[in-house]
Amino acid sequence: MPARIVISADGKQAFENWRQAFAAVAPDLDVCSWYDPAWKAGADDYALVWHPEPEHMERLAGMQGIVCTGAGVDHLLAHAHFPRSVPLVRMGGEQTARLMADYVLWAVIGLLRDARTWAVQQQQGLWRNNVCCRTSSTTRVGIMGLGHLGAYVAQALAHVGFRVSGWKRTPAVLDGVTVWNGVDNLPSFLAELDVLVNLLPATPATDGLINHALLGHLPKGAGFVNVGRGRHVVQSDLLRALDDGTLCGAVLDVVTPEPLPQGDALWHHPRLTITPHVASEAAREVQARYVADVVHCLARGEKPALLCDVTRGY
Ligand code: NDP
Repeated sequence: MPARIVISADGKQAFENWRQAFAAVAPDLDVCSWYDPAWKAGADDYALVWHPEPEHMERLAGMQGIVCTGAGVDHLLAHAHFPRSVPLVRMGGEQTARLMADYVLWAVIGLLRDARTWAVQQQQGLWRNNVCCRTSSTTRVGIMGLGHLGAYVAQALAHVGFRVSGWKRTPAVLDGVTVWNGVDNLPSFLAELDVLVNLLPATPATDGLINHALLGHLPKGAGFVNVGRGRHVVQSDLLRALDDGTLCGAVLDVVTPEPLPQGDALWHHPRLTITPHVASEAAREVQARYVADVVHCLARGEKPALLCDVTRGY
């Protein structure tokens, strides 16, 4: 039996779009909608999910594999009945990583040149010649989380000329990047940065990690970019750090909760740029190609590169 992908990702109405994408890039694969009443579970079914409903968990347990359309799978593992014994694979691939690198470059250069002030001045019709002479070659950027995305982003920044370091759980060597690891080295890593970028996965160990005390290890007036998860940041501490000069500015692609409610103080802080969780989502056909490769890999009994370790949580 050929492998079949059963799709619930992005809801019932997204199926036709997914079907067309798979037809274009992997016509050999059978696809069907999770919501098709005629679907009968088969022995070669693989699920493609984003935020499955609680009532989907039982059927997910019968799958050969589950592919998530997001790189972060914290929302799946948080579910008490998510089938943790079924192989779970995260979204990845070149375009996802490139999009993330482009976003982080935009955010870091915006902080470097204080682009937020230009935007605020424009809103006020103010022509104030606030020239800034900081360059990429003298700016130190540190990335928390040097995994699939973090390592790619770090090397893209280094390629542009930034001085790049990274922090992760276990030791590693990465060309052109100074790598720190472990909680004990976190203050030393932070002490040498002009801009901190968060690309950690959300796990019990990283939830709420970015608080005022952590930000206090940065040189005064550093910048901060969050592209990991909103849960990593104690948002009241972030506002405090922006107000007391610990941070010069921040760019947040992820917040808690999402969407950010009207009236939340984060919306209105003059030193803060907020984007609606858009840093990195590959084009549908590119995602379909990646999913098809993952399913073929699982069907051959091999281990895909971004297989989630459910005990580690990422
Ligand atoms: P990976 O799992 O490939 O990498 C995770 C990295 O974080 C690894 O280097 C890991 O270290 C490190 N890490 C994990 N836990 C700890 C810890 N307790 N202390 C120190 N380091 C730790 O993830 P990806 O790079 O694929 O994705 C990272 C996150 O980016 C996702 O989980 C998601 O939340 C976010 N994301 C956001 C998007 C957006 O549009 N804003 C889009 C895509 C992803 P080690 O290797 O040593 O284990």
